[in-house]
Amino acid sequence: MDKHVVIVGSGLGGLTCGYILAKNGYRVSVLEKNAQLGGCLQNFVRRGVRFETGMHYIGSMEEGQTLYKLFRYLSLLPDVSLRPLDKNAYDLISIAGERFAFANGKERFVESLAKRFPAERSSLQRYVQTIEDVAGQSAMVSLRQADDMVLLNPAYVKQSASEFVESATNNKLLQQVLAGNLPLYAGVKGKTPLYIHALINSFYNQSACRIVGGSDAIARSLVRSIRAMGGSVRSCAKVVAVRCNDSRATGAALEDGEVVSGDYFISNIHPLRTVELLDTHLIRKSYRQRIAAIQNTISNFTVYIRFKKNAVPYLNSNLYHYNEPNVWEVGGYRPSAWPGSFLYMHHCSSIEQQHADSAILMSYMSFEEVARWKGTQIGQRGDEYEDFKQQKAERMLDELEKQMPGTRASIEQYYTSTPLTYMDYTGTENGSMYGIVRDCNELMQTTISPRTKIPNLLQVGQNINSHGALGVVIGAIITAGELLGVGAIMRQIQEAQQ
Ligand SMILES: Cc1cc2nc3c(=O)[nH]c(=O)nc-3n(C[C@H](O)[C@H](O)[C@H](O)COP(=O)(O)OP(=O)(O)OC[C@H]3O[C@@H](n4cnc5c(N)ncnc54)[C@H](O)[C@@H]3O)c2cc1C
Repeated sequence: MDKHVVIVGSGLGGLTCGYILAKNGYRVSVLEKNAQLGGCLQNFVRRGVRFETGMHYIGSMEEGQTLYKLFRYLSLLPDVSLRPLDKNAYDLISIAGERFAFANGKERFVESLAKRFPAERSSLQRYVQTIEDVAGQSAMVSLRQADDMVLLNPAYVKQSASEFVESATNNKLLQQVLAGNLPLYAGVKGKTPLYIHALINSFYNQSACRIVGGSDAIARSLVRSIRAMGGSVRSCAKVVAVRCNDSRATGAALEDGEVVSGDYFISNIHPLRTVELLDTHLIRKSYRQRIAAIQNTISNFTVYIRFKKNAVPYLNSNLYHYNEPNVWEVGGYRPSAWPGSFLYMHHCSSIEQQHADSAILMSYMSFEEVARWKGTQIGQRGDEYEDFKQQKAERMLDELEKQMPGTRASIEQYYTSTPLTYMDYTGTENGSMYGIVRDCNELMQTTISPRTKIPNLLQVGQNINSHGALGVVIGAIITAGELLGVGAIMRQIQEAQQ
């Protein structure tokens, strides 16, 4: 076959798609603008301590579970070592001074919360069952061979996650708790579809773990495999245009003038960035306008903390904290009341580690707060920006100290990132964490197809299907399926399990 596929961007979606196509005889070239490969999978190291930037824990990784099967197919298992999070409390939801634990497994999840909400046991059972049903009904997520690869029952797509959680129980506090890990999908009240909440919660409830040594192990492994199959993966190769003739795409133009020609092109970048690369009548104005009109998920401010040696016991849970019972409102925060919430996670550097070397402390931040520095270069944004970051970091650390007393005294040093950092590193609009907001009231307008009006240009990544490890890998199967057939890939996935 030996058709040449050029992939723009080396995020999880681009690399997964590259792997699948290379395995099926395509000649693959991945072009990445950054020096480091992997997009959100990339890690950085300061004074020998490692920090993850965009993938901190993954789920359904026990033998036989969905992501485990996909990782086996992608030859990732030998290269990715895992440490399970606390099975009785993989996520801790802290609301107004009280903590609630999410435990793995349907029964344990119910039991854990029913201890605090005994009158809600049957509501909790119904809630967990619905979550399982939604995930189970997706042929893609269950990796079933289906005649039509319809993703989900339309009812689950048209109902909002907030409406669903509110209907699951009358207990107002429990409603907040059940939605407490919504930063995982930057949920928007009345918009984010139930299926996103359900797929993510089912994914982590089956099993949840950290990647020992950091998530860039996934990127390194996929890159190695693509190269071993004859493909190329290039860093510092920014695509500035995708050239087209009257009917199709012909080449990816790089900053230095080189043009990489190909038979097919796959864009792993935000759809807005993709259309900016295309100066052709083949992409209609109405499509450009639709893409520009879609809201994007909020960005974040992160403090990357380096601890003193052996000072902080390793926390084998993720802590989602809210000052008030207002989990759906924290995305629309008032800057004076910021940070009303945060997510705190320790990095896992070895399977048996007793103490944490580093942690991340993250809170929502909208792009407007840093918009005045747009256009400045990383590392050269000026003193005012540095002061802004320091003030924000100190406020976050004050809040952390209230919830985890003694932490401040154990900090050796910290580093920060803002929405600008994410915008510059990954190219997402305004540093958006997860790309476009799926809106259950405007499904068609907020669904991005892997196909474009250019017959040999496809799209992949978190804006196709969904974000996160599972959402992006399944999206990559859908995109690669445009060339190979999804059924054929599903068969290969099943064969890889034997
Ligand atoms: C803060 C944060 C925390 C997260 N935590 C988790 C988690 O714990 N678990 C989980 O499962 N998911 C998590 N996610 C989500 C997950 O990381 C993403 O959904 C996923 O990695 C996105 O993959 P992608 O393929 O869409 O590409 P991206 O990671 O966005 O990569 C796109 C790549 O394209 C490159 N690029 C852009 N423009 C060009 C160009 N013109 N030319 C060449 N290359 C270009 C970029 O540099 C980048 O490398 C998190 C995300 C964020 C932001």
